[in-house]
Amino acid sequence: MPEPVVVLIEDEPQIRRFLRATLTGQGYRLFETATGADGLVEVASRQPDVVIVDLGLPDVDGLEVIRRLREWTAVPIIVLSARGQERDKVTALDGGADDYVSKPFAAGELLARVRVALRHAAGASHEGEEAAFKVGELEVDLLRRHVLVNGAEVRLTPIEYKLLATLVRHAGKVVTHQQLLREVWGPTHDDQAHYVRVYMAHLRHKLEAEAARPRYLLTEPGVGYRLTAE
Ligand code: CA
Repeated sequence: MPEPVVVLIEDEPQIRRFLRATLTGQGYRLFETATGADGLVEVASRQPDVVIVDLGLPDVDGLEVIRRLREWTAVPIIVLSARGQERDKVTALDGGADDYVSKPFAAGELLARVRVALRHAAGASHEGEEAAFKVGELEVDLLRRHVLVNGAEVRLTPIEYKLLATLVRHAGKVVTHQQLLREVWGPTHDDQAHYVRVYMAHLRHKLEAEAARPRYLLTEPGVGYRLTAE
């Protein structure tokens, strides 16, 4: 297996240095650019396995970079953003980014996001292997529609199951409120964000040992939810 190739589009030298050490230390091949314009060229010429893009770039908006990339490539895109930029994160995710990491972030967190992105990219061509999901004591079998906790079957309503199955299909990645509404309730319910909140509470009561301190169904404040994948 050749080393996975990463293109990093980020103007801050300290963050580039940190990511260079982190990613090359783990065997990734890294190509860096400091502007969005160079980044677009770099992605086209390197054909990377993952793109990491900062939202605050000196020449064009990172959101614009994502939009331009999505015109021609499905490569996983991870966004770097500052805490407090929840709206930009949501716009980036709804605009085709796969995930985000908030600055300041730890090396382990970034590496986990990259692993998830690579796994999803590989999984897209082997659908069957994704049918059974297991993390900790939670097991979901998407073929048989079985949900088990500690080996015991948990009964879910059709909506609860659909919500969980959607998160399983995106396991490890953040899923926005909008995305959940669209995939679970359909395109006509875009403004019903409270549906997601209510049904997520039901799911946590059924699946988590402590609903108030979830181990599996994590809240991404202001953005959406993430099902733990490891
Ligand atoms: Ca920046």
